[in-house]
Amino acid sequence: MIPYGRQDINEADIAAVLEVLRSDCLTQGPCVPRFEAAVAHRVGAEYGVAVNSGTSALHIACLALGLGPGDWLWTSPNTFVASANCGLYCGAKIDFVDIDPQTYNMSIHALAEKLERAETLGKLPKVLVPVHFAGQSCDMEAIHDLSKQYGFRVIEDASHAIGGLYKNAPIGCGMYSDITVFSFHPVKLVTTGEGGIAVTNDSELAAKMVSFRSHGITRDPIQMKNTVDGGWYYEQVDLGFNYRMTDMQAALGLSQLERLDGFVTRRHQLASLYNTELAGLPLLLPFQHQDAYSAFHLYVVQVDLESSYVGGRYKLFNKLRQVGIGVNVHYIPVHTQPYYQSLGFKPGQFIEAEKYYQRAITLPLFPGLQDNEQSEIVNVLRNELLP
Ligand SMILES: *Cc1c(COP(=O)(O)O)cnc(C)c1O
Repeated sequence: MIPYGRQDINEADIAAVLEVLRSDCLTQGPCVPRFEAAVAHRVGAEYGVAVNSGTSALHIACLALGLGPGDWLWTSPNTFVASANCGLYCGAKIDFVDIDPQTYNMSIHALAEKLERAETLGKLPKVLVPVHFAGQSCDMEAIHDLSKQYGFRVIEDASHAIGGLYKNAPIGCGMYSDITVFSFHPVKLVTTGEGGIAVTNDSELAAKMVSFRSHGITRDPIQMKNTVDGGWYYEQVDLGFNYRMTDMQAALGLSQLERLDGFVTRRHQLASLYNTELAGLPLLLPFQHQDAYSAFHLYVVQVDLESSYVGGRYKLFNKLRQVGIGVNVHYIPVHTQPYYQSLGFKPGQFIEAEKYYQRAITLPLFPGLQDNEQSEIVNVLRNELLP
């Protein structure tokens, strides 16, 4: 089976991990701060706080912004459940903003309308989590303007987007948001096995996230309530978690990060080949906004419902899977998940995300995808979709 996404591990990556295994520190050693500095530098942010998953990064980002019971977090329904769950972890309430049918990102028009209504109801969000779907940035300038107008904070869920640009600046530089989160799960752009990072330009937010990452414990006398009792002394001053990244993971991440540009370039190559080869088929190809240089985490097409291809996405999905092409679907709209329905959400509430979901199919795209494998995928699509 050709998967839809796959990590790319070379000998240098393996050597980097082995070096840590032979060293004194498997965790809380020198690699994690080095990795944090390298990611922050790469994306143009001041601070990086590495953790054990992208989900953990979203959680500590919400906590650092003070999200809690009675507050609202808004995100896109076209995302992985973690973008919304992080708000629930904090006891906040969740709502969604429907997507733009062209970019599949949060619609600015829908956001502006929803904010206007929320203001009259006194239910404005405290935190907005825009998701850079498939690696293409949301319209962050517009989101930033709205955040100033309505007074909410912004966490960019850039799990798909390390290596991408918005208006020629790297995603993560923090020009338009408070915190940006990246995931290093193996299907993402670069991997640490499991892992994530939150980057910010705000030293206070960074310090809070460092605390929440590790039990809310501090060894810094300035942050302590009592006087230092001795060399062993630490204080728990907040309720945090054990979300730490290991040094093995950070070493892998450091090695992978050096390969990021190559990965993104190869993804663009493959994407533009798909664009050329699939033109003329009854498929809607990924729209690319002029302000964005996508990291191309995903290559998503929509099956044209107006076409003569009977059976649509369901039939095409099964056909491709049958012949060993591991297509996938991103995403089942979060509000239609049973857990979210148990919170009161109903199908029909975010119609653009639902329409998109009915037609979408993610084709294989990863740096190690071979040219002949891609040709095979294209041929299967042609044979299936052309009369
Ligand atoms: C992968 C992903 C996450 C969660 O990242 P993990 O590292 O798997 O916890 C969150 N949001 C989006 C959009 C993702 O794709």
